[in-house]
Amino acid sequence: MTQQPLLLLDVDGPLNPYAAPKRRPEGYATHRLRPSWWVAKQEHLAAVQARQATRARHAKPPAVRVKPLRVWLNPSHGAELLALPYELVWATGWMGDANTHIGPHLGLPELPYISWSDLFGEARDGLHWKTRDVVAWAAGRPFVWVDDELGPRDEEWIEANHPGPALALHVNPRLGLLADDFATLRDWAEGCAVPGA
Ligand SMILES: [Mg+2]
Repeated sequence: MTQQPLLLLDVDGPLNPYAAPKRRPEGYATHRLRPSWWVAKQEHLAAVQARQATRARHAKPPAVRVKPLRVWLNPSHGAELLALPYELVWATGWMGDANTHIGPHLGLPELPYISWSDLFGEARDGLHWKTRDVVAWAAGRPFVWVDDELGPRDEEWIEANHPGPALALHVNPRLGLLADDFATLRDWAEGCAVPGA
């Protein structure tokens, strides 16, 4: 049996359509979560604000009570993802938190995740901070990378640097994963499975 392609999956954007205008999209449930990356980010912002307010470089950061992050998730996405002919991998800033905070709401088992070398880092050469790590992690295996932030520059770089088949699938964070995206994923895996295709 041939190895299935990898599905490298972002959370915010594809699964959590955080940019949806005004209200929660139909079919989604609201969760208020406090993943470690979110707490660290809010504490950092509070410390920066405190330093700016006091103009003291080494002002003691205030003890902040971090409000939880609102996340919209569609409970049917778990079964739909598991039905795809892929090996699922988290490719998200949530890293291991995706297994504890996201997967259980979707009915997903614990999945491997990519540990980023430059989490939420600056773009270099116009590339997303995930792109190089995505290609390194795939190590030549066929993959689809699903993300709301990737762009044409990332696609070009993957094409030039990944020796196997790959698809960078952009998802609109106002909409999240749609039926069309699942159809694209099925078609792509089918094309991948045909020798010489
Ligand atoms: Mg995202």
